[in-house]
Amino acid sequence: MANEYDRLQTLADQRGIFFPAAEIHGSLAGFWDFGHTASNIRRKIVDLWRREVVRRLGSIEMEGCLILPKKVFEASGHLKSFADPLVVCTKCKRSFRADKLLEDVLKTEIPEALSKEKFDEMIKENNVKCPSCGGALGKTDKFNMMMGLTVGPVAEGYNAYLRPETCQSIFASFMKIYKTSRVSLPLPISQVGKSFRNEISPRQSLLRTREFTQMETEIFFNPKNIDDCREFEKVKDYKLRLKLLGEDKVKDVTVAEAYEKKLVSGKSPAYWLYVCQNFFEKCGITREKMRFRELEEDARAFYSKETWDFEVLTSTGWLELVANNYRTDYDLKSHSEVSGTDLSVTENEEKFIPHVWEISIGLDRTFYTTLELALSERDKKPLLSLPRYLAPYDAVILPLVRKDGVDKKAKEAFDLLKLDFDVKYDEKQSIGKRYLIYDALGVPLAVTIDYESLENDDCTIRDRDTAKQRRVKISELPEILRKMRRGEDVF
Ligand SMILES: [Zn+2]
Repeated sequence: MANEYDRLQTLADQRGIFFPAAEIHGSLAGFWDFGHTASNIRRKIVDLWRREVVRRLGSIEMEGCLILPKKVFEASGHLKSFADPLVVCTKCKRSFRADKLLEDVLKTEIPEALSKEKFDEMIKENNVKCPSCGGALGKTDKFNMMMGLTVGPVAEGYNAYLRPETCQSIFASFMKIYKTSRVSLPLPISQVGKSFRNEISPRQSLLRTREFTQMETEIFFNPKNIDDCREFEKVKDYKLRLKLLGEDKVKDVTVAEAYEKKLVSGKSPAYWLYVCQNFFEKCGITREKMRFRELEEDARAFYSKETWDFEVLTSTGWLELVANNYRTDYDLKSHSEVSGTDLSVTENEEKFIPHVWEISIGLDRTFYTTLELALSERDKKPLLSLPRYLAPYDAVILPLVRKDGVDKKAKEAFDLLKLDFDVKYDEKQSIGKRYLIYDALGVPLAVTIDYESLENDDCTIRDRDTAKQRRVKISELPEILRKMRRGEDVF
């Protein structure tokens, strides 16, 4: 039997959930389009993030440009060090990522930040050959993943880049936002949007792409006040899933313990880890399948003092969905230096450069993981048991036949609901076939209009997860859908 990853790819392809961008023209690897169900689910994941992360943190949002001037990336360090180790086969000329090749052979994680020489040494030691033709591999090179652009008629190369992460516009605009937002530190600023990386070898559909969406929050704070956290007491008994350095097993550690045992830098970071984990519990991911993996110094980004990768166990193994980074004052300091603009703040007569804690969530991987873990089977047919608030539609309206006024009645029911709910109308194929399709797409309620409906103004509602059915008045549907949204049982 195919594993969950393959099953989801098949379902995505059959039902147009996601598919390669511009497929009719021969698509570029690592670019994906999302169909109607996926765009609805993704929008709802973003809504959930707004509720559980942005609002919970008291964050404000911004929307920055995708294209930014070169200087931004001189300041961020991306032009110098944002590179993956590249090896080219001397025989077939195919390119590969050295770290991924070694990972495939050695079955262990290889930090991408190792030196070129170290990669060459490891490739030689382990006698790694080209996976496509068996040819010898050339020397490792570092390949910069920035996507460069020329803006306006310029002659001398790239003067701008597509952003490789959404946070840089937050750092570059920090002072403007700080001065106008009327918020004292800690000030969390969030942004959802596209980012771009010229990956050497995009793979595993949505798991490694060249264009992707991030939901990022950068929390600016005074490092002296890292233990001032109003919400800490409220969540101190919440159990974080931590995989600590040097330990094999994931442990349940309360927010209070994480702070007391100095596993984190302070009360605020302990709370911020709670905010991250809680969001994923609301996505329907069970605690057993999640962990924060503490990163060793050589595996962390060079600016990070403390890093917790939030990972979820999928059919492809543990998958990183979030980087939680204590970025210190690195970002504002270097943007200050390169721009010549002072980015320090003065609060309570103290002048300092704020420190930053980052919660950087990948939407595409969150979307993929939420779907994979919600996917099961009933009678050998796919069933997508998404939390109702993440379902692509609240309900689908199905006329039993498309004649004798039954279709007209069904369209009236659709009109009654369409402005206040996400509903879809479908009159194609048999009713049984339609039930199966919408079970596979995760739609929690199917509403069937039949000949009886013409007499009694009623309909049959059917539950996605139990296939239970009952008869209700059409006029009751708005209240039923409202109850469902609140999580109440309507059967
Ligand atoms: Zn080759």
